[in-house]
Amino acid sequence: MAPGLGLALGLSAGMVQSQTILPDPVAGVEGEMGTQAGLDAWIQDFRPRALAAGIPAATFDAALRGVEFNAKVVERDRNQNEFSKTIWDYLDTAVSEDRVTLGLQALDRHRALLDRIEAQYGVEKEVLAAVWGLESAYGTYRGDLPVLGSLATLAYEGRRASFFEAELLAALKIVQGGHVDRFAGSWAGASGHTQFMPSSWEKFAVDFDGDGKRNLWGDEPADALASTANYLRHWGWTKGQPWGVEVKLSDGFDYDQTTERVVKPVADWQAMGVRTILGADLPDHGPGSILLPGGHRGAAFLIWPNFQVIEKYNTADAYVVAIGSLSDRLRGGPPIQSTWPRDLRALTLDERRELQDRLTRAGFDAGGVDGRMGPKTVAAVKAFQKARGLVPDGYPSLEVLTLLR
Ligand code: CA
Repeated sequence: MAPGLGLALGLSAGMVQSQTILPDPVAGVEGEMGTQAGLDAWIQDFRPRALAAGIPAATFDAALRGVEFNAKVVERDRNQNEFSKTIWDYLDTAVSEDRVTLGLQALDRHRALLDRIEAQYGVEKEVLAAVWGLESAYGTYRGDLPVLGSLATLAYEGRRASFFEAELLAALKIVQGGHVDRFAGSWAGASGHTQFMPSSWEKFAVDFDGDGKRNLWGDEPADALASTANYLRHWGWTKGQPWGVEVKLSDGFDYDQTTERVVKPVADWQAMGVRTILGADLPDHGPGSILLPGGHRGAAFLIWPNFQVIEKYNTADAYVVAIGSLSDRLRGGPPIQSTWPRDLRALTLDERRELQDRLTRAGFDAGGVDGRMGPKTVAAVKAFQKARGLVPDGYPSLEVLTLLR
C-alpha cells in the first residue's frame, strides 16, 4: 500500500493486507522481540536450505550480508489489525480528488503502454491505473524498507516463519537474476509499482519491455503494469464486465439477500426492484450479488465476478470498492452517489473480538474470536439482527455490540 497517501492497513470489514497471499496475522500477540544476533544466527541456519533450493552461495552471502533486524516490522506485523477504518474513511483517502487527478495524468502519460497491455492481457487500462494508484500512488511511493531485511526479520521472528521464508527465497531469486537494482518496499515485503510479494513476482511477473529483466522496481512501470494485468487475467478477469455498479434497493428489500454468497441473474434483482442509483434498469453482465459494505445506511452495489478477481489482490471490501470506484472515475464516471453513515465509528480490535465472543455465547456461530469480520461473523451478525428485529445488514456496528452486552 502507499504509505505516503495514508492508506493504513486494517479495515473494520475484512482486514486490508497487501495482496491476499499474506496469511492472517495473529493480531496483538505479545512475545519476545528478536535481536540482531538472533537474526544473524537464523540466517546461518537458513543458509543450507536456501542453497539446497538453488540459491548460489555467493548470491546468498552477498545479499544477506549486513541485513538488519527490523523491530518496527515485527511490531507492525503483530499489531496491524488493531487499527481500524470505516470504508468511508478509507475511500476518502483512496479515491480522493488528488488521486483521481494524478490518475488521469498517469493515464495520459502512459496511454500507449497501457493500451498495449490492455490489448495483450484483456484488462482495462483504468483498472490497472487504479491498482497502481492505490498501491504506490502511481509509482510515487514504492516503499523504502529493504525487502530482504523485512522478509528475513519476519521469517526469523517466527509467527509466520514458513510463509516469510518462502518469500525470502523468492526474493533471493529476484536478486540472483539481477532483476532489481534497489530492492525496497513496504513493511511485509511487498514492493514495486504495484506492490507484489516476491512469490507473486515468481509466478506472475512478465518482462513487458523486453530487456530481459522482470523489473517491477525501476522508474519504468511497463513490467509492473503488465505483471498486474497478468495477475488479474490469471485470476479470471473478464474484459468489459464492470466490478460492480452502485444501486438503489427497493423499500422492504430482503437484506438476507445482501451477501457475496447470494448470486442471482440480473433479471431477478431487477424483478426485486433493484435499480441503478440513478433509477435506470440494471445493466446485464451475468449473475451477480448485492453488497452493502457500510451497512444498510451506506451505498449498495451490484457486483460481478471481477469483484472477486480484485479480491485476489486484497480481500477487503473497502479495497475492492476503492479500486472499482477509482477505475470508474478514471473512465470519466461519477463518484459514489450515496452517503455513508458517518456517525458510526469502526470497532476496535478488542471490540471486534468481544462482538465475536458475545455472538458465539448467544448461540450465533461467529467462526472464531480473531477480530476478523469474515463471512461467518457477518452471517452471525445478520442472524442476531434478525432475531432482534433489526435490519439484517450484517454490519458489525457498535449498536450490535451494545445490544449483545
Ligand atoms: Ca523488463
